[in-house]
Amino acid sequence: MASTYHPFFPAYLLLLLPLVVAQSGAVDIRVGSSIDATGDAKPWLSPSGDFAFGFHQLQNNNDLFLLAIWYNNIPSTTIVWYANGKNPAPGRSKVELTADRGLVLTDPNGQLLWRSDLVAGDVAFARMNDTGNFVVYGSGSERLWESFDNPTDTLLPTQVIGKNGLLSSRYKESNFSKGRFQFRLLEDGNAVLNTINLESNYAYVAYFISGTYDQANSSNSGFQVRLDRNGSFYVLRGNNQRFSLNSDDFVPSTDYYYRVTLNFDGVLTLSSYPMNSTTGARNWSVGGTIPDNICTTNFAELGSGTCGYNNICVLKGDKRPECECPPSYSLSDANDVYGNCQADFMQGCEADGQSSPEDLYDLVELQNTDWPTADYELISPCNVDDCKASCLQDCLCIVAAYNERGCWKKALPLPYGRRDSQVSSISFLKVRKPEFSQKNSPIYLTSYRKKYQSSLIILFSVLLGSSVLANFVFAGVLCMGSSFLYNKKVTSDHSNKNGIQSSIRYFKYSELEEATNGFREELGRGSFGIVYKGVIDTDSQGRIQVAVKKLDRVVQDMDKEFRTEVSVIAQTHHRNLVKLLGYCDEGEYRMLVYEYLSNGTLASFLFGEGKRSWRQRTQIAVGIARGLCYLHEECSPQIIHCDIKPQNILLDDYYEARISDFGLSKLLGTDQSFTNTAIRGTKGYVAPEWFRTVPVTVKVDVYSFGVLLLEIICCRRNVAMDVGEEDRSILTDWACDCFSEGTVDALVENDAEALSDETKLERFVMVALWCIQEDISLRPTMKKVLLMLEGIILVPAPPLP
Ligand code: ATP
Repeated sequence: MASTYHPFFPAYLLLLLPLVVAQSGAVDIRVGSSIDATGDAKPWLSPSGDFAFGFHQLQNNNDLFLLAIWYNNIPSTTIVWYANGKNPAPGRSKVELTADRGLVLTDPNGQLLWRSDLVAGDVAFARMNDTGNFVVYGSGSERLWESFDNPTDTLLPTQVIGKNGLLSSRYKESNFSKGRFQFRLLEDGNAVLNTINLESNYAYVAYFISGTYDQANSSNSGFQVRLDRNGSFYVLRGNNQRFSLNSDDFVPSTDYYYRVTLNFDGVLTLSSYPMNSTTGARNWSVGGTIPDNICTTNFAELGSGTCGYNNICVLKGDKRPECECPPSYSLSDANDVYGNCQADFMQGCEADGQSSPEDLYDLVELQNTDWPTADYELISPCNVDDCKASCLQDCLCIVAAYNERGCWKKALPLPYGRRDSQVSSISFLKVRKPEFSQKNSPIYLTSYRKKYQSSLIILFSVLLGSSVLANFVFAGVLCMGSSFLYNKKVTSDHSNKNGIQSSIRYFKYSELEEATNGFREELGRGSFGIVYKGVIDTDSQGRIQVAVKKLDRVVQDMDKEFRTEVSVIAQTHHRNLVKLLGYCDEGEYRMLVYEYLSNGTLASFLFGEGKRSWRQRTQIAVGIARGLCYLHEECSPQIIHCDIKPQNILLDDYYEARISDFGLSKLLGTDQSFTNTAIRGTKGYVAPEWFRTVPVTVKVDVYSFGVLLLEIICCRRNVAMDVGEEDRSILTDWACDCFSEGTVDALVENDAEALSDETKLERFVMVALWCIQEDISLRPTMKKVLLMLEGIILVPAPPLP
């Protein structure tokens, strides 16, 4: 751990506003007590007033509340536990202490959002203890549930992590859903830090291991991780010996509040706060971190570590990382500083063409900087001038790092970038000279587009068709990496009928009738039938809301097809797909039970009242592309959606896109595309080949995605007869016109946020135009689309239909 204390002002502490200030002398909380999620609700306090349990209003969305425990006597808000990070509660939700279920969090309609998982027995009372542990007690004062047994990202003094226990980071500073990092005590006694694949929960190789597994005598291995009141943080071994996780010069003291937090950037910090002003400055100080330097830590796995691809990690004074794009590179998403960076210029063998590299490029020297896992060639022995010349002349080389061992040439993508005094390499980064950079390049200059169109078609065909190895690997890592490692958890405890092998549940008709209260609340109607709202009991999440789709005409008398399709849908797991939870095929009834998504369809989001933020819209577009990429590339059999449109995209609590209805499309084996007989899909979104006798492939989804992307960009429907000017009534045509005339700004004319993000706007429009190419072979794959949207590969100007 770190050897010094540093002033530390975590920004996220400012993001949440405490609703109530200190108020001591708390009493036991009786059954029937409740707190409403409002701006001025009083929390339940511990006797000393040190800790509070209640609702915190999310500052990035004032309508949402987090059920949490926080330090109540510390001015800057410090959340130490939270219940519903993935599912923040809307205003006027309620948490109540009930006799049979303990703590129950419900929304204003009485629907369950979260509840405590009681051990057993009836609740007598609850107490917010001075340790920060909220405990629900039975009538004999036995403990039925406690927050210390259900930690989130923080460990408090006297709290214990047992074998298989864990801390899990939040997603971002201000987003409390699950993040990529975990701190665990493994069954073998080792405490580890590791990243996970968020879709599958698959744990990657640890980037910190305590080494507390005792091979010679396993009973001496670690069995608990503890934080004591005096700040001692350690793994306790079976023989009662301690393996300290503190920094070497840590001095235990009882004058401080302590906490250990697994931050969203993967750094585990021990922080302290003086209990009174005589002890020191009244703010949180970081007293130690694991790892000591996350920027130079080798994660040795897929993924990009703390900072995204092509980004550079730099450790700050408080031992937390910052990410910096290299010169002439900028963030793919301006709001995600920990994300990927993209070059502001075009680069690669094709882009360089016949020009001399000396004319095109400068080499920017970056001291103590390296991307150690991006090497494709080592030249040794080699002097520094030869190293620079070799990279300059090699169109694959993006950067060359020179150190005592030689010259390391690297290609895209560049993961695990770091700048640190421990790094002995000097990197030479190839950047285009200003006169050939993006803004002045004919490839990017709108006014020159037509002139260069034909050569660009060839260029892009090459990029699409015979992509270089780097592109391929890059695409694979991004789009497929998560899934081939997917470690599916079969959670079913309900028998599935008809041999549907999956983790989903079979429902009897009567169960769904009850769940939907006699099919009372209609969520909407589609071409397959009516969708009803319902509530079901689950073992893992308690009572949850669901959407029950009652299929009427499509699958009647098609039992086999229904089961096949359910089987296939059940095996899809991706954060951008609506999750199928169960099904019913009793008698004449065919029903599908999906997770309920509270923020409605993309159609109502885009075309409803008021414009939505550009940032949200672009994130939604990327999410849809990810979901489609998964359906096309990673599912076996491959799934072609065939009906991509805004009505089939639902939005979760964080406005993340979830594709629905995908299993109801035709399923195709990867080698068996079919010749169209009946058009599927919806007018305005269907690809032209549906009207011809040509095989239908995944490219029909690419076409529909292109139309949808334009709708997302412009917040209007593809066909709109009420827009005034006739030449604007068909969006796809108007977008082509704007692009060819160099006036893409007109597409978002009243949207200041989009107008100020010119590069991304242009990129997104160009990607959409590639997708809607009439010539199927010119349309990119969804994998390519994703890489282009994320700015990882550059988008040449599309040909105009
Ligand atoms: P089509 O069947 O023609 O594609 P559609 O997609 O609108 O039309 P459905 O998928 O049957 O039809 O959905 C009908 C409506 O039900 C949706 O527009 C949406 O408002 C609602 N809905 C569907 N699934 C969910 C869900 N999982 N959570 C919340 N609402 C849902």
